[in-house]
Amino acid sequence: MRRYRRLLAVLILIAGLPARAGAPATVPGVELRGEWEQGAVLFGHAPAGTKLWFNGRALKQTPAGDFVLGLDRDAPAEAELKVQLAGEAARTYRYPVAKREYAIQRIDGLPPKMVTPPPEVLARIKDDQRQVAAARQRDSGGLGFLQPFEWPCTGRISGVFGSQRILNGEPKQPHYGVDVAVPTGTEVRAPADGTVVLAHPDMYFTGGTLIVDHGYGLQSAFLHLSKLLVEDGQRVRQGEVIALSGMTGRATGPHLDWRMNWYDARIDAQKLAPAMPVSAPVPQPAP
Ligand SMILES: [Zn+2]
Repeated sequence: MRRYRRLLAVLILIAGLPARAGAPATVPGVELRGEWEQGAVLFGHAPAGTKLWFNGRALKQTPAGDFVLGLDRDAPAEAELKVQLAGEAARTYRYPVAKREYAIQRIDGLPPKMVTPPPEVLARIKDDQRQVAAARQRDSGGLGFLQPFEWPCTGRISGVFGSQRILNGEPKQPHYGVDVAVPTGTEVRAPADGTVVLAHPDMYFTGGTLIVDHGYGLQSAFLHLSKLLVEDGQRVRQGEVIALSGMTGRATGPHLDWRMNWYDARIDAQKLAPAMPVSAPVPQPAP
C-alpha cells in the first residue's frame, strides 16, 4: 500500500494527474489503446516529431505516428513510457501492469524423449533456436500490425497462452501459443499482412514452423504444420493460405499452435483475435 501511495504521488508530480486511484497515466497528445495486463498489446498514436521509449526501448513509429508495444507473459508490475513531444522535455509515465493467473497443464504418459531430448539432438535444437532468434530480429517495416487480426483457422481452443506445463511431472517452459484443435491438413491463413521471416519444414520441437512478421516488432509463429505453402521473404496478405496444419515436431495431437511476439516479449495472440466464430465449437480453456 505504501509503495502504491508513493507511486501515485510520483505520478501526480510527474504528470500533474488528478488523484484518481488506479487511473492509468494519460499522456497529453498521445493516444493509447489496450489493457495494461501481462500478455497484452497496446496500440498508440503520437504527433509527428514525438520520441517514445517503452521500458528503455526506443519505439519505432510509422510515418503517420502509429506505434505498438507488448507486455510479456511475465511483465513486471510496472511499465514505463517515456515521451518527448517535439520541442519539449522528456517525461516519464508509469503504468501498473495487471498480473494474470495462468493455468497449470499437466500432461503425463509422454514418451521420455519428448520431455527430455536425447543428447544427439541437442545441436539440432540449438540450431533451431538460433534460426528463430535470427527471425525475431528481422523487421520488415510492414504495416500489417495495424490491421484487426483474424483467426488463422477456427475450431475448439484446446490450449491457451501462458499455461505452465508439467510434462511427466517435470515443470517445463510455459505454453506461449493459443492452440486450435483442427485436423491435419486444415488451411492456415495469415491473420494479418506480413512478410515470411522463417519457413522451416521440420524443427525438433515445433515441426513445420512459419514466422510471419507484421512489422514494428509484432510477429506470428505457426507450429506443427504439415505443409508450408510460402517461402522465406515472401509477402503475404491477410487471409491468404500460408500452410496446412498438422502435428509435426513434438505434438500430442493435430492442432495449430499460434504464437505471437512483440520483439522478445511473449504476447497472447488470442487477445488480438476476435471472439472465435460461433460456427466453431465452443472454445474451452486448457485444464
Ligand atoms: Zn501448443
